[in-house]
Amino acid sequence: MAELNPFKIAQTQLNEAAQILGLDKATHELLKWPMREYRYLLPVKMDTGETRIFHAYRVQYNAARGPTKGGLRWHPDETIDTVRALAAWMTWKTAVVNIPLGGGKGGVTCNPKEMTESEKERLARAYIRAAAPVLAVDRDVPAPDVYTTPQIMAWMMDEYETIVGHKHPGVITGKPIPLGGSQGRGDATARGGVYCVREAARAKEMDATKMSHAVQGFGNAGQFAALLHCEILGGGKLLAVSDSGGGVYSKSGIDPEKAVHHKRETGRVAGLPGTEPISNEDLLELDVDVLYPAALENAVTADNAANIKARIMCELANGPTTPEADKILFENGVFVLPDFLANAGGVTVSYFEQVQNTANYYWPLEDIHVQLDRRMTTAFHDVHTMSTKEKCHMRLAAYLVSVSRVAEACKLRGWC
Ligand code: NAD
Repeated sequence: MAELNPFKIAQTQLNEAAQILGLDKATHELLKWPMREYRYLLPVKMDTGETRIFHAYRVQYNAARGPTKGGLRWHPDETIDTVRALAAWMTWKTAVVNIPLGGGKGGVTCNPKEMTESEKERLARAYIRAAAPVLAVDRDVPAPDVYTTPQIMAWMMDEYETIVGHKHPGVITGKPIPLGGSQGRGDATARGGVYCVREAARAKEMDATKMSHAVQGFGNAGQFAALLHCEILGGGKLLAVSDSGGGVYSKSGIDPEKAVHHKRETGRVAGLPGTEPISNEDLLELDVDVLYPAALENAVTADNAANIKARIMCELANGPTTPEADKILFENGVFVLPDFLANAGGVTVSYFEQVQNTANYYWPLEDIHVQLDRRMTTAFHDVHTMSTKEKCHMRLAAYLVSVSRVAEACKLRGWC
């Protein structure tokens, strides 16, 4: 069985880039590990009166280019290694879109689907009470990730401000708009990914208005990808969507608005009228122009990579493809838009949110879209130019761009 530990995968990916870049030993070692990591045990009173102990983490991977930044995932399978991997990828992500931030990530091992709203609120506040000493707008800034929401960010900001005794909205991003959230943050991850697909279609001389597509994972990233694909590209057909409960397929196309409505009403995509069931595995292997993996890690491995028929794979999820799968996809001509490029729209608008919070001046939605498009398009072309120059796949090219930027910042600071 191939190695599926996400942190080992992140280190393997870095090693290949470090070798090509000729990184010196100290810089390579520095970039291979988190600079700081924290573990917390959080006792939380449940509605039954019982106290449960949750294991929680915050990893500040590298702060050479600025304060660390990264989401907070609540998931039953969360471990220190998934958080380390996600923090490493955040470091490369902020570098590839060239924003002045480092990379971090947080997590709580829990199952939010089995928790009430008041239990979630107590867990959110407990996390902030534990982590507050290492958080601040100029230190480390969390945001939403899998199974965390703007409401959870609101409770966290409120708890943090209660602790420090003054307003500090920039300590967390992805907040609801009335509490200092940014216009355009909700769909930013998917929007940035679709901008990359548009540029990829141009580079590959494909007609972007006629592309069939499928979406694995129907949460924040996946739902907005389904909604925005045709809107931004001027056409296309959504053939399949899925979530953790399975997927649905329609040869004649799925109306993304209806799929989102059905998911909201029933909690799942299964049973959407006018569709037939499809498994998550079969969805990945559909003959589509664009595949959006938007769920979790290790969706495409050495076991199924040879069966991927998509022309473009836009990785909205973090870590959906293993290194062995990358090689197979490259040999088979699948154009992969790697995670930390394709899903960088979220952190880019989170950065805009921090800037607006600090200035206490808020931008209109059109300005967010223009600025996001500019950053994503530039990042795509930086990576695409590198991949053409080095004759390598887009993930390795993205590593070459990002790692050299972070290594340069470490060197300028005199760290190595
Ligand atoms: P979310 O919690 O809103 O949605 C997750 C979705 O994935 C749900 O629909 C869930 O049912 C589905 N899912 C879970 N396990 C699955 C499985 N085994 N097969 C198919 N579907 C499954 O989370 P999100 O914020 O949309 O994040 C999705 C991915 O995008 C994650 O990898 C996350 O790290 C990444 N990401 C999100 C953002 C963001 O701004 N939300 C930014 C960058 C990257």
